[in-house]
Amino acid sequence: MMRRRRRLAVMSTHTSPLARAGTTKAGGMNVYVADLSRHLAEVGWEVDIYTRRDRVDAPDVEALAPGARIVHVNAGPPVGLPPTEIAAHVSEFTAGVEQIAARREPYDLIHSHYWVAGLSGIELSRRWQCPHVVMFHTLGAIKEVFQQPEPPFRIAGERRVVACSDAIIGATSHERAFLIGQYGADASRVRVVPCGIDLEMFHPAGVEESRRRLAASLPELGATDGPGILFVGRLEQAKGADLLVQALPLIESQPSASLWIVGGDERDEAERARLRDLAVECGVGQRVRFVNAVARRQLPDLYRAATVCAVPSAYESFGLVAVEAMASGTPSVATRVGGLASTVVHGKNGFLVGNRQPQEFATAIDRLLRNEVLRRRMGAAATADMAVYSWRNVARSILDVYEELLSERGIAGAQREPCCPDSVESLLVTAS
Ligand code: UDP
Repeated sequence: MMRRRRRLAVMSTHTSPLARAGTTKAGGMNVYVADLSRHLAEVGWEVDIYTRRDRVDAPDVEALAPGARIVHVNAGPPVGLPPTEIAAHVSEFTAGVEQIAARREPYDLIHSHYWVAGLSGIELSRRWQCPHVVMFHTLGAIKEVFQQPEPPFRIAGERRVVACSDAIIGATSHERAFLIGQYGADASRVRVVPCGIDLEMFHPAGVEESRRRLAASLPELGATDGPGILFVGRLEQAKGADLLVQALPLIESQPSASLWIVGGDERDEAERARLRDLAVECGVGQRVRFVNAVARRQLPDLYRAATVCAVPSAYESFGLVAVEAMASGTPSVATRVGGLASTVVHGKNGFLVGNRQPQEFATAIDRLLRNEVLRRRMGAAATADMAVYSWRNVARSILDVYEELLSERGIAGAQREPCCPDSVESLLVTAS
């Protein structure tokens, strides 16, 4: 008899995997959820990704890939909302998912992404009697370490999700230590699985062809034949694009180097204007180019055409951009924080910068720009080092966690608190 296909319910409440990454609230997590779901569907799982309806005309169900689909759930007004506001609609979202799921085959497992989704995930796992896995992607308490205050109900919500989930996946051992130390997670339930990247998309290839294609597809980038420093990401302060604008005039040996800032959209005009003014103030107004967030298929050309990729973030729980660039053969210069501290190996496939200062970034970038031999050596090492992040490996490790939970043993020795049936709203009110 043929074995029934395993069914997975993915909670991605606050953002859809189809939202354009590199804009206000869409980034690595969206890419991750889409890629993981595709890979799980390829190996035979049926995957339904539940996300909040954030526009009136979103279809009820949308195909992501064969075997994987996105289901829009009504919860709160059908407009874009920040996650902190979406938290107030969690019960409505949970009820909406339950109602839709009642018309389908039962799920074997729930995988939630981010704490808001985790609140629905733990509740549904109690009602459906199936295991729940959570990934936070970012944690409020880590953001606070980096001076980005978060509302108290976020930390309270995260604590509840930690206590009531069967397994927690962290992207790095740093995140794991944080979950255990700051959130009291049971160590036996926290697994480290790095994020995956699509190596069929991100690999080295002809630089000249990439430059030619970019000239046609992204004319706003201007000439790409001189040294190019690439920044890719959401235009939020913690990503540090301003630090690179300030670093550019300090790279004295390369007066023709340009900085390509790729990310954001029309909602980020104010931040882009601030960066533009800063560039003029630093005397590099003509050398800083801005490109709105691009579709994923355009990224490989950007990574290959760039001389170096710079990731000056205050914090990255994993940092997909640095890995995508390195897989494409371009060394990364990144802050020594979070996931970047393990994916970038200082002096081997790029440089890590300990002190987040423009001069420090300028010095590290200059070392690469002025030395082609070093750059080639590091580029080759980068491509080889990134092979471990192939989706084939990463999806396998995630499946190992699922299988362990689905096997009769469960995760050996794990103690998970029974999910407290108090309403989420009362949790949020008590904590604020
Ligand atoms: N990204 C994209 N187009 C853009 C800018 C970014 O597709 O114009 C993607 C990028 O390739 C990466 C993700 O957005 O996969 C950003 O992930 P990362 O982990 O670097 O940062 P996060 O957004 O999670 O903070």
